Amino acid sequence: MAITYPHQHLLGIEGLSPAEITLLLDLAESYIALNRRADKKKDLLRGRTLINMFFESSTRTRTSFELAGKRLGADVINMSTSSSSIKKGETLIDTALTLNAMRPDVLVVRHPDSGAVRLLANHVACAIINGGDGSHEHPTQALLDALVIRRHRGRLDGLLVAICGDIMHSRVARSNIHLLTTMGARVRLVAPPTLLPAAIARMGVEVHHDMRSGLEGCDIVMMLRLQTERMQGAFVPSGREYFHFYGLTYDKLAKAKPDALIMHPGPMNRGVEIDSAVADDITRSVILEQVELGVAVRQACLEVLARNLPSLQHNQ
Ligand code: ASP
Repeated sequence: MAITYPHQHLLGIEGLSPAEITLLLDLAESYIALNRRADKKKDLLRGRTLINMFFESSTRTRTSFELAGKRLGADVINMSTSSSSIKKGETLIDTALTLNAMRPDVLVVRHPDSGAVRLLANHVACAIINGGDGSHEHPTQALLDALVIRRHRGRLDGLLVAICGDIMHSRVARSNIHLLTTMGARVRLVAPPTLLPAAIARMGVEVHHDMRSGLEGCDIVMMLRLQTERMQGAFVPSGREYFHFYGLTYDKLAKAKPDALIMHPGPMNRGVEIDSAVADDITRSVILEQVELGVAVRQACLEVLARNLPSLQHNQ
């Protein structure tokens, strides 16, 4: 397959062209079947080193990159920030330079500060993948969400997608807005005014403060967690009140199209942004499929970046 991904890194969805997004989704598609086989191994990344550098907690993203790297034959190292020299006061750039000196091929970085991953990319020779930086971007999440949607609906353009909840603190929302609008979908944001950044409408989205009007006629309902770790002070009166107005229940979901898909990037807070019965409804919810396809998307991202590493040419 002729692969033409012209970037050294994957720092965000913003700036990727529709063709580049489609390339990543098509390649990810080819990994889904591989991951469902008993033997899931390829040796495309044999001899390559992938370091997961996570400065924030993660279940899905870190495990998924680890599996993706191992299934492509790479050596994968998970750096734990709790036992690293970060605790001894080393700066982010010094840590990155130290790891870079060990000649990894790819670094996957998650950091609580928006922009931190781009900063690192300016200081290292290896490829960098943004595993989530503050409330800025989480590109592989948006790609896996798009892959799930495309598999169920056959396309992205023309669909109406509602992203609901804590938009203010959500990198998932930002990456999804970039991806979906680039691919021709319509995006509606549904949130209380306190959880919406003032300038958000400039991103080409519709804004609703009421779940019922926001979900009206939607093809996809994407729910987000209240990201309390990024909040200073209270942004909502209480979890119970939030659930009453913004929690996804069957009653509110009835406004969306009858076959609307329910998505959530995880981790879910049941009874806060989503009712348990809705989250577990196997006829509507694709939340676990998002997790499954996340591995395929990360394999695709590792493949395109690895193919741009000069030293991998002989493996092609
Ligand atoms: N797992 C996603 C993220 O890292 C969403 C969340 O944490 O709520 O941004």
